[in-house]
Amino acid sequence: METLTISKEAKAFDINRIRRDFPILQGKMRGKPIAFLDNAASSQKPQIVLDALNDYYRTQNANIHRGVYELSQIATEAYENARRTVQNFLGAKSDKEIVFLRGATEGINLVAATFGRKNIQQGDEIIISEMEHHSNIVPWQLLCEEKGAKLRVIPINDEGELETEAFKNLLSERTKLVALVHISNSLGTVNPVKEIIELAHEYGVPVLLDGAQAVPHQKVNVQELDCDFYTFSGHKIFGPTGIGVLYGKEALLEDMPPYQGGGDMILSVTFEKTIFNELPHKFEAGTPNIAGTVGLAVALNYIQSVGYEPIAAHEKALLNHAAEALSSIDGLRIIGTAKEKASVLSFDIEGAHPHDIGQFLDYEGIAVRTGHHCTQPVMKRFNVPATTRASFSFYNTMEEIDRLAIGLKKVIDVFVQQKS
Ligand code: PMP
Repeated sequence: METLTISKEAKAFDINRIRRDFPILQGKMRGKPIAFLDNAASSQKPQIVLDALNDYYRTQNANIHRGVYELSQIATEAYENARRTVQNFLGAKSDKEIVFLRGATEGINLVAATFGRKNIQQGDEIIISEMEHHSNIVPWQLLCEEKGAKLRVIPINDEGELETEAFKNLLSERTKLVALVHISNSLGTVNPVKEIIELAHEYGVPVLLDGAQAVPHQKVNVQELDCDFYTFSGHKIFGPTGIGVLYGKEALLEDMPPYQGGGDMILSVTFEKTIFNELPHKFEAGTPNIAGTVGLAVALNYIQSVGYEPIAAHEKALLNHAAEALSSIDGLRIIGTAKEKASVLSFDIEGAHPHDIGQFLDYEGIAVRTGHHCTQPVMKRFNVPATTRASFSFYNTMEEIDRLAIGLKKVIDVFVQQKS
């Protein structure tokens, strides 16, 4: 197999050193060195994130905000420091604009349940796209059903790119929100979000971006984008599961009713009336995932210390190498060929079911995802029931991609050629 010429930036990037930071990558799957190519589903964790979680529970653990004793103050400081780390990471104006919650799914549901319930009325419209994850479809559908509002969908072309001209035609006085995926998890498409935001703002329409697949690959600055809401999940960006972030512009968050009721989101409670806490605590009812925020902050510092530029260069080299290697396989069709694309490669092999492909690769020690990737409308658009998806992170190697290509050739020998 031909090896791709590695760019200058990628050469400077010490992949062996990076891989040593991730203990699980030294492990095996089915007795073979693990080739973890399912990063769009969840990423692996560097040792420093694991250490941070361990240290937190060993030396800092206590409930936050309400304790007068030192340990509780230390835990509170760790939690609020993590919020400031996220604020800096996203380039938000204020730490009041950073809400901790479970992940992107909960971030979108929060906006639907609060901003949506308050501002969307009968006859109003919400615009999403054909490439949304189910978590950016179903909450809006539920809201539209409740309110008698309408969901409008921006179509995608054969490359898996957004039809921006169609978006312009969908925008109107009836539009009350645009909710769009920044980078598609099943196609890899990087959407022209800045342009979309500018167009939406011409109508005074706020824009929510689902950044679950974006932050692991590229620097995001919410003020530069001028998005109104941005959400992502910690587990996809080398942090723990069960922790995520919703960014919202302060004025919008201020105007939104609370999400859940409970401890910490109040200033005072009587049976007659509750006064809600100030931002962002108004949206954080109950004991949060304190350790998760500590782990997330370390993960965000880690990715920034590796650097988005070398990460992008390495991932581009991986994607190009994979696209070239897989294109030469007979009967394999890549689904999602956008010009602006993250390191996600979905494909279909004529005559082989994705589930069989995934299982076969598993026995080769290669982890890929098969199925609809929670984007059934994308499957419908490309007329396939499911795809196989390899998604690369900066810790993946060219050799792992070579193993994938060899594995897929074996799949064809076993499943396709035997049938013919
Ligand atoms: N949006 C996109 C684009 C995703 O890829 C995912 C996860 N697959 C989500 C939202 C939901 O993320 P989570 O399950 O972590 O809430």
